Amino acid sequence: MHAFSYHRPATLKEAVSLLRKVENAKLLAGGQSLIPVLKLRLASPAAMIDLGAIEEMRGIKLEGETLTIGALTRHAEVAASKDVAIGIPALARLADGIGDRQVRNQGTLGGALANNDPAADYPAAVLGLGATVNTNKRAIGADRFFTGLFETVLKPGEIITSVAFPLANRAAYAKFRNPASRFAIVGVFVSEAAGNVRVAVTGAAPCVFRVKAMERKLAEKFAPDSIARVRVPPDNLSSDIHASAEYRAHLVTVMAQRAVEAALASK
Ligand SMILES: Cc1cc2nc3c(=O)[nH]c(=O)nc-3n(C[C@H](O)[C@H](O)[C@H](O)COP(=O)(O)OP(=O)(O)OC[C@H]3O[C@@H](n4cnc5c(N)ncnc54)[C@H](O)[C@@H]3O)c2cc1C
Repeated sequence: MHAFSYHRPATLKEAVSLLRKVENAKLLAGGQSLIPVLKLRLASPAAMIDLGAIEEMRGIKLEGETLTIGALTRHAEVAASKDVAIGIPALARLADGIGDRQVRNQGTLGGALANNDPAADYPAAVLGLGATVNTNKRAIGADRFFTGLFETVLKPGEIITSVAFPLANRAAYAKFRNPASRFAIVGVFVSEAAGNVRVAVTGAAPCVFRVKAMERKLAEKFAPDSIARVRVPPDNLSSDIHASAEYRAHLVTVMAQRAVEAALASK
């Protein structure tokens, strides 16, 4: 690891001002993605701004039809939250399936979204529920937030503060996981709210994406059979030692059907 200076602001305002003042600074949340990157010397920031002491960025609130989760909230807290279990149980189960106990006790919602790993779970929930990502500067709709491999619309100096998830009538996440890391080889999040269906896929391609052909079929009839014949073309899907693009394409349909089945069973 290269040497860097370390800062631990107590407020969001202080963090924003540090980001402006300190050159080549990087935000640190749970360190579950960033620290390995530093260890491998794939990044060498001059300064680290640890968000860990900023209380206003933590917590879970269920109000009306919206579940709001602070960016610093850890995966284990989401998995154990009563409000999440009442509001969007699929989200609690998704968080409980991330990595191992250590990763869930350290990793955060904001870190996972800013990182936008192609195999991460939360991007599927954010896109699959049509959530809004709030930053210190603006509110960003899920459809605009994720832009590519490890890329988002976040600008330098921008900090994710919370995510607002609209409640759904029914929702579920089905993941075909890598047995070692638990990252998604393919994960599909499905939701239905007032007849509006969203299907979001992670793990299959360089960036999370929606499958509109499945959404249309499920809006007509919300049942696994409705999408049995809908195939995602393998052309733009990922191929690696874990799975070929053709296999991932097959998994998208299978996991989407399982998610629909689970969503129906949850009601
Ligand atoms: C062994 C292992 C297994 C894992 N398995 C899974 C899995 O199954 N599924 C899964 O989804 N993930 C998995 N992960 C990743 C894990 O979910 C991490 O928590 C997640 O990637 C984010 O890490 P973090 O919160 O610790 O953020 P950090 O590592 O601290 O930061 C990640 C990036 O986000 C930026 N950042 C952090 N917070 C903010 C913020 N609020 N605003 C703007 N930028 C910010 C940082 O500057 C950095 O670039 C795994 C990780 C490990 C090490």
